[in-house]
Amino acid sequence: AFDVLVVGGGPAGAAAAIYAARKGIRTGVAAERFGGQVLDTMAIENFISVPYTEGPKLGAALEQHVHEYDVDVMNLQRAEELVPASDTTDGLIGIRLANGATLKSKTVILSTGARWRQMGVPGEEEYRNKGVAYCPHCDGPLFKGKRVAVIGGGNSGVEAAIDLAGIVAHVTLIEFDGRLRADEVLQRKLRSLSNVDVVVSAQSTEVLGDGQRVTGLVYKDRTDGVMHSLALEGIFVQIGLLPNTEWLKGTLELSPRGEIVIDARGQTSLPGVFAAGDATTVPYKQIVIAMGTGSTAALSAFDHLIRSPVA
Ligand code: FAD
Repeated sequence: AFDVLVVGGGPAGAAAAIYAARKGIRTGVAAERFGGQVLDTMAIENFISVPYTEGPKLGAALEQHVHEYDVDVMNLQRAEELVPASDTTDGLIGIRLANGATLKSKTVILSTGARWRQMGVPGEEEYRNKGVAYCPHCDGPLFKGKRVAVIGGGNSGVEAAIDLAGIVAHVTLIEFDGRLRADEVLQRKLRSLSNVDVVVSAQSTEVLGDGQRVTGLVYKDRTDGVMHSLALEGIFVQIGLLPNTEWLKGTLELSPRGEIVIDARGQTSLPGVFAAGDATTVPYKQIVIAMGTGSTAALSAFDHLIRSPVA
């Protein structure tokens, strides 16, 4: 059995594994795809102390750093069930994998990350990282002086539009519904900006490009069915970040958005189970934040172990 079993191998999981292994305790990582979301990222310019890197490079560096330690890395393993210690006869937490095996550990750190909800329209996948973006904090500065659309008029979409309006030349906010759903205070702020247009009752139907980069967005006016085309360089899709926690439903406390509820120490509602990164209620989903919370969770797991009765 492990002392610490980390589920998920993104920045949060890698940090948790390194912090745990440095305590000299038996550490394992089970990850569906080691590296996580950074593997899908191109330019990374906010990884502090590294002015510029690229996702696949950072992903490889995470893996290499973890391998500096005695960590049992189980890549391409998907967790499907968490069995709390209270439900087992040996008092260990169980993680059942898709391949049928069950891993046992005294403590578990959940760091399964999240995924951005996509529009699911032609061109979106083709131009991902070539104008189609999901993270304004990450990619906003790449569109300095350019024209962008933000898809989604909830809080994250309106926040993104306000944020981007300060960087880019022009923002068009596209909302499917007849009205924006963001908090009134955000909507007021949005309306005060001179370089933002808001289009409601609009269904995005296609991302246009020239083979290299995004050149436009097509949307349908849902009131009269007329198609419109916007010429622009960037599209920020803000229609939801989905935590990879479906498999945990009913096992531990999740927020209404499905995020694992943690306290300041990374503790979940289950004893011995900690969590970190994009899968949790931690505000702001970023690499450095995922790493910070992963380290916190590992130190908390260690603290839990040294306070547990000697078996
Ligand atoms: P993730 O990176 O999502 O990793 C989750 C891990 O869990 C993966 O290994 C996954 O395979 C695994 N997993 C999921 N479910 C299971 C399961 N059931 N069983 C086992 N393993 C599982 N942030 C920045 O700070 N700067 C940027 O420039 C930046 N750019 C971005 C660009 C893009 C296109 C995207 C998508 C994100 C970007 N981000 C950026 C956000 C950043 O990538 C995330 O905040 C960060 O990766 C979160 O780390 P994490 O470890 O919590 O989760």
